[in-house]
Amino acid sequence: MKALQGISISSGYARGFALVYQPPSLHHAPEYPIEKTAVADEISRMNFALQRTADEVRTLRERIAKEIGEQEAAIFDAHLLFINDEEFHAKLLGRVSKNLINCEQAVKLEILGYIKQLSSLKNGYMRERIMDFEDVGTKLLRNLRYDMPDHPLGTLAEQTVIVAKELLPSESVNMDRKNIAGIVTEHGGSTSHTAILARAMGIPCVVGIPELTSLTRDGELLLINGSKGNVTINPSDWQQHEFRRTEKIYRDSMRYLTLKESQACQLKGGTPVTLTANINCLEDVPLVKQHNLEGTGLFRTEIVFLGNTKTPGLAKQHQVYVDAAKQVAPHPMIIRTFDFSADKHPEFLDKKFLANGRRGVDWALSEKRGLTSQLHAILRAYNESPNIRVLLPMVRNSEQVRQVKTILAEQAEKEQLKIPPIGAMIETPLAVFSLRDMLPEISFSSIGCNDLAQYMLGIERELNALNLHDWILEPALLRTFETIFNLAAEHKHPVSVCGLAASDPLLSAILVGLGARAFSVDPASSSQVRYTLRHLGIRDAKKLAGLALAGEPKQTIIDAFEKHFPEVPLALEY
Ligand code: PEP
Ligand code: MG
Repeated sequence: MKALQGISISSGYARGFALVYQPPSLHHAPEYPIEKTAVADEISRMNFALQRTADEVRTLRERIAKEIGEQEAAIFDAHLLFINDEEFHAKLLGRVSKNLINCEQAVKLEILGYIKQLSSLKNGYMRERIMDFEDVGTKLLRNLRYDMPDHPLGTLAEQTVIVAKELLPSESVNMDRKNIAGIVTEHGGSTSHTAILARAMGIPCVVGIPELTSLTRDGELLLINGSKGNVTINPSDWQQHEFRRTEKIYRDSMRYLTLKESQACQLKGGTPVTLTANINCLEDVPLVKQHNLEGTGLFRTEIVFLGNTKTPGLAKQHQVYVDAAKQVAPHPMIIRTFDFSADKHPEFLDKKFLANGRRGVDWALSEKRGLTSQLHAILRAYNESPNIRVLLPMVRNSEQVRQVKTILAEQAEKEQLKIPPIGAMIETPLAVFSLRDMLPEISFSSIGCNDLAQYMLGIERELNALNLHDWILEPALLRTFETIFNLAAEHKHPVSVCGLAASDPLLSAILVGLGARAFSVDPASSSQVRYTLRHLGIRDAKKLAGLALAGEPKQTIIDAFEKHFPEVPLALEY
C-alpha cells in the first residue's frame, strides 16, 4: 500500500486500475533485442514508418502552403529532406540488422546522435534544427506503432485510472471518457487546461504527485479522493471498505444537490445571480439544459478542434456554432474565438506558428486568415441563431477590439449580415486597466481569473503546485476583481466570471461579496455553486469577502463559510 498526497483538481471518488501512460517520446522509446529471424519483419516495419512519415510531412507542407503561405511551408522542406535521406535510411536499417535491435531503439539512437552533434554548436539556427530532428523522430516513433489505435488513449479498458507525468489537452480531448475512472499526474496546476477538461468531464483528478509514474505499475488498484487530493495505490481491505463508505456519503450528497437544481440561482434575500456554463465541445452542450443553466458563458472553441489534423473550414465551423447555439436558445451562447497556446495547440497548427508566444486575439490578429474565417463562421451562425455572442480572449486594449470589429463589419457588409454583440475577456492585467477605455466598444465582459491570476501573481498556471484557494485568495488579486465589478456596476456593464474560481463554492461566495452577479461554471460543479449561493445573503458574502481581503487565514474563511449551511453536504466540504 502507498498513500500519496497531491493537489485536488476535480472532485469525486474513483476506484480503478492504473494505466501508466507514456506518450511517444525519443527518450522513452521501447527498447528490446530482436532475433535474426525477425529482421525482415522489423525492416519492413521501418520502411512502412518512413514512408508514412514522409507522406504525412508532404501533406502538411501542401496544406500550410495553401492555407498560410509558401514561406511558412518551407519550414517542412528540411523535414522532408531528412526523412527522405538515403543515408539516414541506411543507418537506421543497419542498426536493426547488424545490432539486432528493434526499430524504435534504432530511431532513438540515430536521432539522439544527430542532436548530440548539433548541441555542441550553440546558436539559434542549430537549436531550430534540433527541434526539427525531434519532430521527425517523434513522428517516426508514432508511425512505427501502426498497430496501435490512432490515439493511444482512444480505447481503454473499463475503470481505467490514467497515471501520467502530464497530460496535454490535445491528449485529453480524444480519450475514451466513458472508461476513465480517474486521472492522476505528476505535473499540472490547479487551473491547467488538463484540470479544466477533467472537471468538465466530471472525472476525479489529482495532480502534483512527484515520482508517481515510477511508483505505479500497470494494472494496480488505485483509490482516488479527488476532493482531498489523496491517492492510494494497492489499498488494504480496510482502506477499501472506508473508501466505499465515504464515497457513498459523497454520492448521496451530490444526489441531494442535483435535486435542488431546478431552483432559481439567487442569493438568500432573492437577488438573482446568473449561472451559465463553460463548455469545451459539442458533447457538453446538452449539459446546459440538464443542469438548468442560463446559456453558455464560455465556449472554448479551440478545444473543439484540438483533435483535428486539418484546419476546420468555414462550413464545419458554422455547423458547430449553429448546432450548439440552437440547443441553448433562447439563452445566450457566448462563443470565444480561438485561444491557442503552447499546451493547447492542435495538430493542424505546427508548434512553430505559436513560437512567437502570442495568445488569444493578439495571436489571431497576427494570423488574420484563421481569425477571419472563424469570425465569418460566427457571423453566419449569428444570422441563423441570434442568441450568439462573440468573446475575445486575451484582449489588452480597445484598439484590438476595434480591429476585430472592422473584420466583422467588412464581412457583414459583403453578405448583408447583422453583427453579433462582442465582448472581451478580462484576463490580462492590461485589460483591467483598459476596461474603462474598452467600454464603448464592447457589450459585455468576462473575467478569466485563471489567466488573470497567472499574470497578476507571476505563477505559471500549467505548473503551479498550489491548490485553487491558495492562489486565488491573494488580497491584491481579490481587490483587482472588486475594481472590475465596481467599474462595471458604475457603467451598468454586464460582467461575468468564467475562470475556475467561479465553479468553486467558497470562491464563488467571496466573489459575490466583491460584487459578482454572474458566473459561468463547469456544469458538473454548478449544483454546488447554486446551493451555496441560495444559502448566502449579500451581507454574509460581503463578510466573507472582507475576511479574504484582510488576508485572514484560509481556515478562518472556511469556518465562516461553512457556518451558513444547516448541514454541510460532503460535496461542499473543504
Ligand atoms: C481563464 O483564463 O480564466 C479562462 C476562463 O480561460 P481559459 O481557462 O480557457 O484560459
Ligand atoms: Mg484564459
